[in-house]
Amino acid sequence: MRWSDDFLGVAYRYFDLRMNVVPLFGNRRAALKLWQDVIHWWPDASIRVRFVEEPDSYWFMMGAESRRPDSNVSFYKRLPRSPHYERFKAGYGDAAYMRFGEYSSKTLYQVKDSDVCNCQHPAGDHADDPGDGPDETDTRCLEEGCACDRFVSTQVYLLKRKKTVADIAFLAEADIRDDPLAWNCMRANAHI
Ligand SMILES: [Zn+2]
Ligand SMILES: [Zn+2]
Repeated sequence: MRWSDDFLGVAYRYFDLRMNVVPLFGNRRAALKLWQDVIHWWPDASIRVRFVEEPDSYWFMMGAESRRPDSNVSFYKRLPRSPHYERFKAGYGDAAYMRFGEYSSKTLYQVKDSDVCNCQHPAGDHADDPGDGPDETDTRCLEEGCACDRFVSTQVYLLKRKKTVADIAFLAEADIRDDPLAWNCMRANAHI
């Protein structure tokens, strides 16, 4: 079994018929290729997603049987617990959509005035200190009381293709021996 943690993280989105679990990639083309090479060959019913929980973090694990077993890959990542994660856990119901996402981050010179910074204020409220010429690392927010000293807008774009995953489980570390995917992942990647 080959494992990969070569992705940035996992996002959770709620606006569909089902909740979305979204492995994130910094490069759209690489994500599309990975989908084509690996995920495309996964029958939906064989996909398993596991979350192994620690007090402040969790392990995301995803694997499936493939119609192309020779090039199959399973995915894992250890991530901090977040409100998005907890909301997904509480609300995904019977099944979730799994799709890939592109995580992109833009600076003040790549956006419109109305685009919003991670500080929640629009680009138009940010200013580059004119003294040192254009410098995207020094683009502070002028809103009173805001400590933001650099405009950064990070966004997640969901790629269209999706799989429906019904085999999802949340496990404590004590439970992983009974779960082949989680056990295999922790043996391979956590050196237990
Ligand atoms: Zn800002
Ligand atoms: Zn601000």
